[in-house]
Amino acid sequence: MAQSVSSIQARIRRGDGSPLVTAGDLAPSEHFVDGGFRPGKSGRTMDVVNPCDGTLFAQVPEGTAEDVDLAVAAAVAAKATWGRTVPKERSEVLHRIADRVEEHAEALARLESANTGKPLMVSRDDVAQSVDTFRFMAGACRALTTAASGDYAPDHLSVIRREPLGVVGIVTPWNYPLLMAVWKIAPILAAGNTCVLKPSEQTPLTTLKFAELVADLLPAGVFNVVTGDGPTVGGRLAEHPDIDMIALTGSVGSGRAVARAASDTLKRVHLELGGKAPVIVFEDADLAAAAESLRVAGYWNSGQECGAGCRVLVHESVAEEFVGHLVGQVETFVVGEPTAGDEVEIGPLVSRAHFERVTGYLERARAAGVRAAVGGTRIEGPGFFVAPTVLVDVPEGAECAREEIFGPVVTVETFGDEAAAVSRANSTPYGLSASVWTENSRRGLDLPDRLDFGTVWVNAHLVLANEMPWAGFKGSGYGRDLSVYALDDYSRTKHVMHHHAR
Ligand code: NAD
Repeated sequence: MAQSVSSIQARIRRGDGSPLVTAGDLAPSEHFVDGGFRPGKSGRTMDVVNPCDGTLFAQVPEGTAEDVDLAVAAAVAAKATWGRTVPKERSEVLHRIADRVEEHAEALARLESANTGKPLMVSRDDVAQSVDTFRFMAGACRALTTAASGDYAPDHLSVIRREPLGVVGIVTPWNYPLLMAVWKIAPILAAGNTCVLKPSEQTPLTTLKFAELVADLLPAGVFNVVTGDGPTVGGRLAEHPDIDMIALTGSVGSGRAVARAASDTLKRVHLELGGKAPVIVFEDADLAAAAESLRVAGYWNSGQECGAGCRVLVHESVAEEFVGHLVGQVETFVVGEPTAGDEVEIGPLVSRAHFERVTGYLERARAAGVRAAVGGTRIEGPGFFVAPTVLVDVPEGAECAREEIFGPVVTVETFGDEAAAVSRANSTPYGLSASVWTENSRRGLDLPDRLDFGTVWVNAHLVLANEMPWAGFKGSGYGRDLSVYALDDYSRTKHVMHHHAR
């Protein structure tokens, strides 16, 4: 039986009207180019909306190709000097950036929550992870080495040099605006590149604030921000002849568009795209622990999470018991505005368009006979709130279990044997992440080999470590974020050979 809408509404926590930020907390509403804020060439602006009530929150420039070209010229002019700095020098700058972000952590978290509607607990975690990403890259770039030099052809000494790529274009999504920007900026700068970043049109504010905070720490032109829409600003970055690599985190459609636009110049492409992570729960799993873990892994950031454990495949013999545990977890969520206190766990979705997308999936699932064990509806009233939902009686191949919903919605399918579980888990165009829940240690060791995903957790889900890579397979893209592998992706190796016969 679906939980009644009125009981969910009764639990929506609203703030007392005091804002998270004031106009004085925002960075200038301009592009950040060549070390300073500059107005856009068109004079046009884009609206940034508060997801808690749909009201206008801020405006930023609607960037043009000309704005991108100016930013790229600044990044090109800065690349030789920044690219020649030694790792120690870049590392010190990155540590200073980490310190600066940490000093302003609460202000950044509040701004992120104000722009995205995220609970403060999520924004604070985003900022803490951003700080740690800078610190990790500051250390890692000093430890990165190449193969030892040696003679591989007689009387010829081979040396491998690691070099920056040059200028990297970055396009980021709205779900973790600051953190996804930092996942790119930190390794890209650590590897000696300069960059031009386009934030999501819906959530540009913490990226601009970050630029303001670190402006005095970086040489002019090393880091630039141009706001605007995807096809115009992101498209120009992807096709620009002076950009050496384009790195995008976003949906599969945007990834395809970027890869196409990049193909004429044959620049490198780095894509972190969508996901639909299966959570395979075997009959011998600790069901309560799996459900408790999914409270976070399925619903963190209101389910707007590319690695979310949103597609449960549970053995038919324990399905009812598992659903009972999961519904018990989901019923106790605190849903509300970020201004309503630190206990809020689920906020509104980011925009009206996304809200309509998610509720569209729920309506079509209901029409197809899928049952909501809890939630399953929008929440009436101001803002883009959707009730935390568990969908059961989900037939194999159902749309809600196949496509990325990207909201607080977990689907539950059942399976009869291990082979079916593996083949159904793999039968998705995505390949970002998956998890396996079992107390059988042989199965726990063997099964990850058979799953076609860039990250596979055993008896866990959505636990990340900045030392480890985050990267998808198949339709989830290619290119590694985090870890030393990201430094590899954002640099190139050159073979220099010296003939030394005498
Ligand atoms: P989106 O694809 O709509 O937008 C992402 C960015 O791409 C935005 O800045 C947008 O303006 C830009 N863009 C759109 N069209 C473009 C084009 N033609 N050329 C260049 N740029 C273009 O994605 P979103 O809705 O902001 O974010 C949600 C998506 O991101 C989900 O699919 C999610 O799974 C994915 N995501 C993936 C990861 C990961 O690490 N794999 C992390 C976070 C989010």
